[in-house]
Amino acid sequence: MQKQRQIKAIGTSEGIVIGKAYIFSPIAGECFGVQKIKISKEQIDNEIKRFEKALNKTRDEIEAVRNEAAKKAGLKHAQIFDAHLLILEDKVFISQIKKLITEQQQSASAAFCSVAKEYLESFEGISDKYFRERTADVKDVFRRLHHNITGKKKKSLAELKSDVIVIAHDLSPSETATMHKERVIGLVTEAGGPTSHTAIMARAMEIPAVTGAHNITEIIHENDFLILDGSEGIIIINPSEKQIAEYKHKQQIAIERKVRLLTTKDEPAVTTDGQRISLLANIEIPEEAEHAINQGAEGIGLYRTEFFFMNRNDLPSEDEQYEAYAHVARACGDKPVVIRTLDLGGDKFASSLNIPKEMNPFMGWRAIRMCLERTDIFKAQLRAILRASEVGNVRIMFPMIATVQEVRAAKKIVEEAKKELRNEGKTFNENIQIGVMIEIPSAAMIADILAEEADFFSIGTNDLIQYCLAVDRVNEKTAHMYDPLNIAVVRMIKLVIDAAHNVSYTGGKCDNSIECPFAWNNNRKPIKVCVCGEIASEPILAYLLLGLGIDELSTASISIPQNKQLLRASSYETAQNAAAIALRRYNSNDIKDLLIKQILNLNLEK
Ligand code: PEP
Ligand code: MG
Repeated sequence: MQKQRQIKAIGTSEGIVIGKAYIFSPIAGECFGVQKIKISKEQIDNEIKRFEKALNKTRDEIEAVRNEAAKKAGLKHAQIFDAHLLILEDKVFISQIKKLITEQQQSASAAFCSVAKEYLESFEGISDKYFRERTADVKDVFRRLHHNITGKKKKSLAELKSDVIVIAHDLSPSETATMHKERVIGLVTEAGGPTSHTAIMARAMEIPAVTGAHNITEIIHENDFLILDGSEGIIIINPSEKQIAEYKHKQQIAIERKVRLLTTKDEPAVTTDGQRISLLANIEIPEEAEHAINQGAEGIGLYRTEFFFMNRNDLPSEDEQYEAYAHVARACGDKPVVIRTLDLGGDKFASSLNIPKEMNPFMGWRAIRMCLERTDIFKAQLRAILRASEVGNVRIMFPMIATVQEVRAAKKIVEEAKKELRNEGKTFNENIQIGVMIEIPSAAMIADILAEEADFFSIGTNDLIQYCLAVDRVNEKTAHMYDPLNIAVVRMIKLVIDAAHNVSYTGGKCDNSIECPFAWNNNRKPIKVCVCGEIASEPILAYLLLGLGIDELSTASISIPQNKQLLRASSYETAQNAAAIALRRYNSNDIKDLLIKQILNLNLEK
C-alpha cells in the first residue's frame, strides 16, 4: 500500500465520497495508469519473453484479420494490414523496448508505453495530412500489442461490479453517458476544467468529481483507498483513520443540509423585496427531467440535445427525437422546456457525423454553423421539436450565434419546417418561442440587434468566458485564468441584460446620449434573459447575476434548492448596489471579496 498523500486539483462536482480507486483511461491510449515500478534483475528475462510472446501473438492476430479481409474484400483492401505488420517488424522500435527492460529494469508494459508514446508524438508532429492520419492505424496496433503484453481485457465502466472512484486521463462523452451510475461514486480526471463535458455530466448525475489532476493515473494505484472532496477539489490517497472520521462527519453535514434545503424547494425564489427569479434546470438526457422537477425546477432552461446524437453510430430519426422531446415536455407539464438545437463540436462529437479533426474545435465547424450547412439534420430536429410543442410548453434555442444573419437563416429553416408540418396536417405551436444563446462576444456586442429577432436570451457563460478571455474552457493548464469575475466578463453580461431589457447602464430608457453608447431601439419590447452556464450554480455568482438584473438561472438540478435559499434571503436592492460597485472594480479578487461579504450577511437559515 502506498503512503498517505493529499492532492489538490479543480473541484467540479460537489460532494464527498470515500472508496476504492479504479484506473480507467482507454480513450487516450492504453498506457495511462501504467506504473513505472522498477522490476528486479531476475524478472528481466521474463519480461523480455512476455514482450516477444505478445509480439508474436499480435502478428498472428493481424495476419488472421488480413487473410479474412483478403477473402471478403480482395487483396487490395487487405494491404492496409501489411502496413500494420510492418510496425511489428520495426527493429528500432523492438530494440528500444528491450533496452528499457534490460537497462532500466522497466516492465514490458512500462517500456512499451514509453517507446509507444514517443512514436505517437512524432507521428502527430508530421505536417503531411496522410501520414498524420495513419496515426490511428499505429494506435490500433499498439493497443492490440499492449493488451497482449498485459493480458488484460479492455475495461468498461458500464459493467462495474462494486462501488469505485474512477481515475482516468479523460472520459469521452459516451463513456460518461454509459457508465454504471450507481457503481461510479466519484470521478477524478487529469484533463478538463469546470466546464468540460465530463464536469457537466458529473454534476448532472450528482457524482462528486475532481478534474485537472495532473498525472493522477500514475500517482494513484488500482484499489488505493481514497477520499474525494468534489467541492474543494481534494483527493486523499490512503487517508488516516482521523481523516476518514473527519470527512464522514463533513459528508453527514452535507447530507443534512441537502435534506433541509429540499424542504423549501417548491417555494418560489422571491427576494426579500419582491424580485422574482425563475430557477430552471439544465439536462442532458430526457430521463433527467423528472428529477429536475423533483428538485424544484420551474422548467428546463437548457436541454443539451447533442448528447442524444453521441454514443451511437447512426443519426437519431425525427420520430426518435420527437419521443425524447415529448417525454421532457410531458414531464414538465405547463412549465417551459427550452430545447437547444444541436451544439456538436468543441469537446462533444458524434461518430455518425464524421466531423474531421480540427486545429481549434471550439472555434470551428460546430453548432449552428454545422446545422446551417447540414440542413437535413437541422430540419429533422426542428420538426421533432415543433411536434413536441403540441405536448407542452416547448421552446427552441439556437447555440453559438455569432451574427444576426445566422439567426435569420435558422429562423427561415424553422419556417420551412413549420410549412412542411402544416402540409402534412401535423399540429404544433404556431407561436413557439425562439431564443438565442449569447456565448460569443460578437453576439454580446450586438445583443440589442439580436433582441429584435429573439423571444428570449440565454447567456452561455461557459463559452462566453472562454471566448471573451481567450482561455480554453477544457484545458486544465489554463483553468486558473478562466475567471468569471474578470471585469470584462461581468460588463459583458451586464451589457446583454440591459440590451435585452431595453434599458441603459443607468437604468432608464436609452436615448442615444453619451451615457448610452448603444442605440437601443426604444420601441422594442423587453425580453427575458437567463444564464445557463455553470456560473449560475455558484452562490457568489448567482448573487452577482441577481444584482445585474438577471431574470432566470438555469443550473444542474442539484444546485436549484441552494440557489432558491440564497435568493430568498437576498435583497434585490442590496444586490444591485453590490453589482454597481463590482462593475467599477478592476480586480476580480476585489469583486469576489465584496460578494463574499454580502453573502455572509445573509440569513440563510430563515
Ligand atoms: C455555455 O456555453 O455556457 C453553455 C451552457 O453551453 P455548453 O456548456 O453546452 O457549451
Ligand atoms: Mg456553449
